[in-house]
Amino acid sequence: ALTIGIVGLPNVGKSTLFNALTRNTVLAANYPFATIEPNVGVVNLPDERLDRLAEMFGSQKIVPATVSFVDIAGIVKGASEGEGLGNQFLANIREAHAIAQVIRVFDDPDVIHVDGKIDPASDRETINTELILADLQTLENAIPKLEKQVKIKKGSPEQLAAYQAAEKVLAEGRTIFEAAGPEKLDTDNLRELNLLTAKPFIYVFNADEGVLSSPERQAELEALVAPAQCVFLDAKLEADLVELSEEEAREMLEMEGQDESGLDKLARVGFSTLGLQTYLTAGPKEARAWTINQGDTAPKAAGVIHSDFERGFIKAEIVSYDDLMAAGSMADAKAAGKVRMEGKEYVMQDGDVVEFRTGL
Ligand code: GDP
Repeated sequence: ALTIGIVGLPNVGKSTLFNALTRNTVLAANYPFATIEPNVGVVNLPDERLDRLAEMFGSQKIVPATVSFVDIAGIVKGASEGEGLGNQFLANIREAHAIAQVIRVFDDPDVIHVDGKIDPASDRETINTELILADLQTLENAIPKLEKQVKIKKGSPEQLAAYQAAEKVLAEGRTIFEAAGPEKLDTDNLRELNLLTAKPFIYVFNADEGVLSSPERQAELEALVAPAQCVFLDAKLEADLVELSEEEAREMLEMEGQDESGLDKLARVGFSTLGLQTYLTAGPKEARAWTINQGDTAPKAAGVIHSDFERGFIKAEIVSYDDLMAAGSMADAKAAGKVRMEGKEYVMQDGDVVEFRTGL
């Protein structure tokens, strides 16, 4: 499964958030280096459509898609030089498919800030600088090797050009992820280097009520990290919410003026940042969301249910969730001509409700 690595300076609320994510009750410690071992936490991707489908089909259970997060040990300046927890940090982050950077914007005199003050721009730069320096090292090793290969006509000049363009971006203090789209970087030719800053970034602003109730402040912070997406949440509140019943949690969120929990927001943004999407199946047994890559074809999607289904794929019977709900039942959707037969070339769309026909 694809995972999102949670990183950030010490004391920004990573453990608090991670504990909430895993509904774990391990106490967050109020000192740097509290989180050393990486752990994986799996959270449900919220999807109200599954509830409606379960009602319509009388499904016994609901199986949502999930998003996996890895808690990665705290980073400090010098990580790229292997100081402190640096090497382990970089190795762990290299395994993740996206990076969620937690940045502290909550005010609390009782919680020490490693740099002595709340400064999101500087915190972000501290972390990103370490990742950028690590990538620069990777390129400084790779470029001379590739140059030699190109000279003896064994390496690809296009790949060398991609490496050099990447080095230039990094030397300017920018991440590959930021520059890739706007500057049309040749990321295909960078893939084998598994650069840290080429991974998709999400920013999690660990906020207090002041920030959560200020659209202006949020807009500033959004602009700071664009084009990366960000989520605003209060990690402490999230940790409290997971201890409550669903109804109590909803009431508490309403009191805070929030319509959705921070964890739900994070799961949603994380899922799309990983380039994933879902399709839906429903029957008396279960209503379920299945995870595929954006752009996957119908046979690929079938293969997620069972690997034999990809090979044995004949066709997919598909109705969009909205059409199905508008019709009121599968039989009515069929009568209205809303249920389509799709073949091997069909590219799955978000909200497709599917039944596969296989030759097995
Ligand atoms: P980590 O070092 O990044 O893992 O940070 P922790 O999760 O251990 O949090 C450090 C301290 O900050 C702990 O005492 C937490 O209770 C506190 N903390 C975390 N999130 C929040 C928050 O949103 N608001 C406030 N006031 N304190 C928080």
